[in-house]
Amino acid sequence: KDMNIVVIGMAGSGKTSFVRAFYKHCKRQKESCYTINLDPAVTSTPYKCNIDIRDSVNYKKVMEEYRLGPNGAIMTSLNLFTTKIDQVVSIVEKKKGYVIVDTPGQIEAFIWSATGPIVTEALATAHPTVVVYVIDTPRTTAPATFMSNMLYACSILYKTRLPFLIVFNKSDLQDSEFAVEWMTDFEKFQNALDPEAYMSSLMSSMSLVLEEFYAALDFVSVSSHTGAGMSDLTAALQKKADEFETEYKVQREEIA
Ligand code: GDP
Ligand code: MG
Repeated sequence: KDMNIVVIGMAGSGKTSFVRAFYKHCKRQKESCYTINLDPAVTSTPYKCNIDIRDSVNYKKVMEEYRLGPNGAIMTSLNLFTTKIDQVVSIVEKKKGYVIVDTPGQIEAFIWSATGPIVTEALATAHPTVVVYVIDTPRTTAPATFMSNMLYACSILYKTRLPFLIVFNKSDLQDSEFAVEWMTDFEKFQNALDPEAYMSSLMSSMSLVLEEFYAALDFVSVSSHTGAGMSDLTAALQKKADEFETEYKVQREEIA
């Protein structure tokens, strides 16, 4: 039951809203939920924050002091925070229930920096750790966008080597049925492609490659605004935490 959830996704996909919705759901279910905010640039979090990167690093000051632009300052703030990750881990280790981590708006600041892997690895020593990849469903209804998003998800899966759950967010605006169809029936995706469109044959062959990725993938549909789908989500998270114990932990030990 104890697990860490690392929430990742494109800017605006709804990571912060998702953390809030999950936190609210836990409160209702009387389950423990410990929140960590790793976005140094957020002005305020719409949920109660237990550990906040903003308490230890001042993003604006980092920008001025090191003469950095917004992205550089986010990276530097994350690096500064990461030097204290052992303290975070020793707190997290003692926590029961869910520990949920909100990450910076820009996904690459976390995933492709030095910080992301250090943070996820450190957390994974404390409890089963699951990556939740949040997708902005209404913005991914075009086949090309959908596929880029999935390729990105795929690259993150291989980068983090952690159990991976896709969350189709904003179900109040857009049903995720189209996505489920595309992921389960290759022909449906092919049919959605415009044969005249730029790079359509490349897309068609890449989608064949993705088939294997889809087959191993778990996904749920939620609305972070209405809270719909939260029970499905907790069930899926439990399954992923079990996978961490049975598959990932062994694999990770072998690699290490
Ligand atoms: P983040 O950058 O990934 O942390 O995204 P935010 O949580 O800040 O959300 C980005 C925008 O999407 C905000 O305007 C949210 O109100 C909106 N949003 C997030 N989740 C939902 C949802 O489930 N439904 C709707 N309708 N809007 C959402
Ligand atoms: Mg956010």
